[in-house]
Amino acid sequence: GLILGIESSCDETAASVVRAGHEPLSNIVASQIALHANYGGVVPELASREHLRNIVPVVRAAMAQANVTFADLDAIAVTQGPGLAGALLVGILYAKALAFGSGKPLIAINHLEGHIHAVLMESQLRGEAPIPLPLLALVVSGGHTHLYLARHGTAEAAWHYRNVGRTVDDAAGEAYDKVAKLLGLGYPGGPWIDALAPHGNPRAVPFQFNAIKGTRYRDGKPAPNKKAPPPQPGPRFDFSFSGIKSAVLRYVQTKNMREAADLRQQALAALPNPRPEDALALMDTQTLDLIASFQHAVVGILIRQTLSAAECLGAQGIVVSGGVAANRELRARFQKEAAAKGLPIAFPSMAMSTDNAAMIAAAAWPKLLAEDFASDDLGATPQLKLG
Ligand code: ATP
Ligand code: MG
Ligand code: FE
Repeated sequence: GLILGIESSCDETAASVVRAGHEPLSNIVASQIALHANYGGVVPELASREHLRNIVPVVRAAMAQANVTFADLDAIAVTQGPGLAGALLVGILYAKALAFGSGKPLIAINHLEGHIHAVLMESQLRGEAPIPLPLLALVVSGGHTHLYLARHGTAEAAWHYRNVGRTVDDAAGEAYDKVAKLLGLGYPGGPWIDALAPHGNPRAVPFQFNAIKGTRYRDGKPAPNKKAPPPQPGPRFDFSFSGIKSAVLRYVQTKNMREAADLRQQALAALPNPRPEDALALMDTQTLDLIASFQHAVVGILIRQTLSAAECLGAQGIVVSGGVAANRELRARFQKEAAAKGLPIAFPSMAMSTDNAAMIAAAAWPKLLAEDFASDDLGATPQLKLG
């Protein structure tokens, strides 16, 4: 079974051909990071235009690299949501046209389900024992910090997801990006903070206590935040990251670190291709300690909340995915703490942790087996929920 996956929900135009739900024959990603970096964030209008420019060559490259024709395919899978409406639409319209033209069924995929399957696919590819079910999936990226309890549904092939936690304000990746910007570092901020944190003292600024006490609320109790979505039944394991973001801002103001950050930002902007190593030369101990302490606190919150959910809900294993899953401190500490609880845990490779289309094709495999196809009037669903 061969599935062509297409992904265009945010700032990556991607296409991939995957065999049997776990064997990528190609995986092409055209990233727009450099384009949006000039604006410090994704600009929706620019994103749609870039997707339009890239979609045809990206799909063509994925087909060529896999050395298959449209006649060889069993289905075409595309991201339905969540994401930017205009960006999603480019992938969906093109996938529909290809499906119509080739007479192949179309499969609609939730982007978050894709992130979870990215990990399952790679683990299967490595020949590991499958993560036992139910598994708890932490999807942590620039737009999401969600916990899902996942198991097989009634049909053996189909998956069933229950959302048991989400951020009530900022996503973890968003907090990384905002803190990096505040400190004059590059965009996206995650890789910069990841690279610089080992040079600072993670216990220099006691965020753990403040951030958790100030913003995290007790497991199972509804969010005190008025903007928070209404809680679903059952215990909740939500996250909050706006408190720690504000704490970093206050720290920077109190310690008069603003001017140094502006100078750092200007110095980096003058370089043709600024990298975290360049920022290291522009760093003082206080800023490095702040970075290390911020990361230590965020990673601590992610791990604690995930492990308490796993314990309370009887999850048998953990899957971590999304852009922040690339973080080295998160990986190292999570491996250790999950192992201490006897829970198998799996992470994506660096390439599979950010947006790609192999994960969309992988998530489509059980739907192909179950003949769960999309209708002709499939549209973009920017706020699509999983489970
Ligand atoms: P979505 O939520 O729709 O997937 P997205 O495009 O923001 O949106 P990704 O591309 O998966 O998500 O991830 C990007 C995010 O991951 C950014 O916020 C970035 O800072 C963060 N990130 C990337 N690498 C790291 C890292 N090594 N450590 C921490 N955060 C990281
Ligand atoms: Mg992205
Ligand atoms: Fe994503």
